Amino acid sequence: MTTYRIAVLPGDGIGQEVTPEAVRILQAVGKGAGVGFEFEEALVGGAALDATGGPLAPGALELCRASHAILFGAVGGPRWDEVAHEKRPERGLLALRKELDLYANLRPAKCFPMLVDASPLKRSVVEGTDLMVIRELTGGLYFGEPRGVERFADGGARAINTMAYTSREIERIARMGFEVARKRRKRLASVDKANVLVVSQLWREVVTRVAKDYPDVALEHVLVDNCAMALVHKPTHFDTIVTENTFGDILSDEAAILAGSMGMLPSASLGGTGGKKGLYEPVHGTAPDIAGQGVANPIAAILSAAMLLRYSLDRGPDADRVDAAVLRVLEQGHRTRDIHSAGTKLVGTVEMGDLIVSEVEKSY
Ligand code: NAD
Repeated sequence: MTTYRIAVLPGDGIGQEVTPEAVRILQAVGKGAGVGFEFEEALVGGAALDATGGPLAPGALELCRASHAILFGAVGGPRWDEVAHEKRPERGLLALRKELDLYANLRPAKCFPMLVDASPLKRSVVEGTDLMVIRELTGGLYFGEPRGVERFADGGARAINTMAYTSREIERIARMGFEVARKRRKRLASVDKANVLVVSQLWREVVTRVAKDYPDVALEHVLVDNCAMALVHKPTHFDTIVTENTFGDILSDEAAILAGSMGMLPSASLGGTGGKKGLYEPVHGTAPDIAGQGVANPIAAILSAAMLLRYSLDRGPDADRVDAAVLRVLEQGHRTRDIHSAGTKLVGTVEMGDLIVSEVEKSY
């Protein structure tokens, strides 16, 4: 029997409440599909800081390296807001991304039909939205050299950041874009600012060259300003978007708004050899305002587990079952507090997990 090793890093706050629900979903998939999952937990974030003095527990990185994939919760909270920069809870997550060379961040934004009214956009605009933003995560403007601030004698100053990419870096994120588009509706929008930036001109040149290896995917080049407008004007135009680090940071947050609630948004950070190593986490944080109450929405964590099945384990049909199970439970009218409205049934974190587990089990 195939057995997958999954590192589980729940972190802090509601990370500790939603991650166990994602684990239960994978256990249900394991039972249904006849594959084994071995879960091993490690501390990260504030929990690791309290217990071990650092934001990533000793052994956690090795555990992640030795695992097929990582289920991550969320890190941080007011308790650790004052700790030194290098010990801050999020340093644990950043260290994992860096050490595992996770260079692609995938964030789907999907508008669930029964939650359309939770979106700030009109139903006629947002209905049917189902897109994926792939953001380059380790290069571009956030990491380019030179960077720094020059202070002048007259009291003035000059600050520099550099947007830089090698053709190799562009090629690997472009390939990720085409591979993901292939698993979706086979349309890829490569987003850049090629009318102004030379780095974008190289980006366009490399993406166009890589496209020859993916004749089944339809490629378009879109300027980032046009993309930002189109996302709120006609989001259904997009399937898969691939873009530079900073552009992706902004566009993925813009796309997130389309879905309506933080509790519904999964994500994946992929990299390593063949781009299969992945860290899967809900987009939301530790939600200190609701932590410990059992009311957090586990759907973002559960959909992250579905992404784990699809992108690290190549188990697309199992991922489809999890996605469909979430949809069915929502169709039945069950809602956690963040997405609750008149006429729907209010449930807590574990009850929502139970309902989705049961739908996954029924699907096999
Ligand atoms: P947040 O995402 O934690 O919460 C924002 C709002 O959304 C809150 O009102 C919260 O109750 C609600 N919310 C979030 N997830 C929810 C869920 N699953 N179910 C129901 N409601 C949900 O963002 P924040 O308040 O800005 O940050 C809180 C802490 O989390 C901070 O310490 C921040 O640094 C950290 N954070 C961590 C990550 C991460 O680990 N990747 C990401 C973002 C924020």
